[in-house]
Amino acid sequence: MIKPWPLGIFRSLFGILYILVPLLILTISAEFFFSESARSILTNFFINIVAVLGLYMFIGTSGVPSFGHVAFMGIAAHLQALLTLDPTIKSMLLPNLPSWLAGLALGFWPAMAITVISVGVFAFLTGIPFSRMGDAATGIVTICFLAIVQNVLLGWERFTAGFKVIYGIPEYCGLWTAFALSIVAVVIARLYRDSSVGLEIRASREDKDAAQSIGVNVANHRLFAWVLSAMVMGAAGGMLVHFLTIVSPSQFYLGLTFSLIAMLIVGGLSTISGAVIGTIFMTGVIEVLRKIGEGPVIGPFDLPQMHGLSTMGTGVAIMTIMIWKRDGIVAFFEIDERLNNWKRNQVNKRGTPDRVRLEHPTLPPASPGRARQETISDEGRDLNIENVSKNFGGLRALIEVNLTLGRGEILGLIGPNGSGKTTLINAITGSILPSGGRISIGTQNITNLPAHSIARQGIGRTFQNIQLFENLTVIENVLAAAVVNETSATASRPEAWAGSLLNRFDLAPYANRLAGTLPYGQQRSLEIARAVATRCSFLLLDEPAAGMIRQESDRLVEVLKQIRTEFNLGLLVVDHDLQMIMRLCDRVVVLNKGQVISTGSPRQVQQDPKVVEAYIGRKRQVKTDLNQ
Ligand code: ADP
Ligand code: MG
Repeated sequence: MIKPWPLGIFRSLFGILYILVPLLILTISAEFFFSESARSILTNFFINIVAVLGLYMFIGTSGVPSFGHVAFMGIAAHLQALLTLDPTIKSMLLPNLPSWLAGLALGFWPAMAITVISVGVFAFLTGIPFSRMGDAATGIVTICFLAIVQNVLLGWERFTAGFKVIYGIPEYCGLWTAFALSIVAVVIARLYRDSSVGLEIRASREDKDAAQSIGVNVANHRLFAWVLSAMVMGAAGGMLVHFLTIVSPSQFYLGLTFSLIAMLIVGGLSTISGAVIGTIFMTGVIEVLRKIGEGPVIGPFDLPQMHGLSTMGTGVAIMTIMIWKRDGIVAFFEIDERLNNWKRNQVNKRGTPDRVRLEHPTLPPASPGRARQETISDEGRDLNIENVSKNFGGLRALIEVNLTLGRGEILGLIGPNGSGKTTLINAITGSILPSGGRISIGTQNITNLPAHSIARQGIGRTFQNIQLFENLTVIENVLAAAVVNETSATASRPEAWAGSLLNRFDLAPYANRLAGTLPYGQQRSLEIARAVATRCSFLLLDEPAAGMIRQESDRLVEVLKQIRTEFNLGLLVVDHDLQMIMRLCDRVVVLNKGQVISTGSPRQVQQDPKVVEAYIGRKRQVKTDLNQ
């Protein structure tokens, strides 16, 4: 009966324990049994964990590459040094500081608080443009960002001593402080990942368009992730100066960027366990190679000094992982999620009836009719498309299209390939901007709203080429849509709502599988379930039965009719399967070359000579040509 819902707090806490306990044991052992240098390595490892989790919180959750995050560490490190350095040392190394700063010597924690908040504010200001860029552009621009920050730090000698090293920074960050802060970072990262905001941004990582189609404001989520991750990176930078007791801008450039990104990639971008395991692995590799690079004498062998061996090793590790295990050592499931899945499989193999229920949960019956009506109270508002046109360069894909879709109506949209069906759905849902015309729900104009706002106005959709959140689980796909559109007025909790939809679409047994691993027909069903989960009033389906076998499409017709009645949905269905359209739809609109050529009942449309002409006219023409 009870599902381990992805948003369940206890599940997150268990996940945290799986990381905390081994690290705690390691730290206690280090305290008693490790040498001074081994303890140092471990302290450095904990600082790396904080930094890599900082990276995870932006790159791992949003999927957008950033090579600039180390800049936040650099800024934080210098700020922390300025705030904590002894005034006598300051007067020697930084003689031109303003007097209020020259005399300041804060303790670790107050300085850390100021540093982390300052970095957060700086990240917020820089994040506004970054979060609104294309994904690949962000990668390039973040490198420029790093270069700029680096040069400002080098050039601003009054505060940073430029190329000189600032030394004598108090050694506040020992083994236990580093351990404690790394656990804090693990907790923040895991709670963020498993929260509804984390789920929404992870959905956008998988498919930005699909995320917008369920109402996710991707730019805002990226901005939030950027600020959060920068603050965590800032904490790591602050820790590092109090561990090394020296600071200089050159520490925070490409070398550090490279090794931190390697740790994240090797472990796997998408999980906290991955970030930690990648950090353990790479810290090990880097330390061993650094030792070898120093040219030690091992038994009879006197090895030569080799500069850059650890950097080369890092490169080789990244390449090997990318080739051998593209998604990293841990891939998409946290360790605790893997254990749960494994346990479930064992139970299934044994087939103990009472336990199988876990895998086939009796979820509450769908009661969202209630919930949805509460959200969208204005019954009887139609979706109106008036004179909508779309030009692609010279191509007129839509020419003054008019149609109306009522609540509770199933409208078929058919037409030959290239007639503009998908373009119409894209224009209605805000995926593309129409060149002209007006789209409204009742009297509310939604014509030029961004896609996520249109989704929140109650228009759900599916895509002609299935666009699922492939590396999220089946339940997470639906849950993401449910949480985005949850309001104080919705009656059922998102978990119950998502669960009832999985039952409705026969997907409950696969709840914990990655969506990308489902067979084609079930992926289509999941995409529809996800759209319905938004509690939409209108649902636009682009070839929902494509790729389905007859049995599946029959079942789909049945389910679509059911949800239309139960949720009073207005459905627009595009499909090539005319038999299905005829059985399913109350009314059919026929598009040809971007224009509506016929509207009416399925029977009327079928017999309309213009429709016959549009569908087979060209064939007849070809035949005539051949006969001549
Ligand atoms: P349908 O879904 O009815 O098969 P589409 O709406 O996909 O047709 O396409 C209608 C026409 O618009 C086609 O000629 C197609 O090539 C063109 N088209 C669709 N999307 C784009 C785009 N993004 N850029 C340029 N042309 C496009
Ligand atoms: Mg199409």
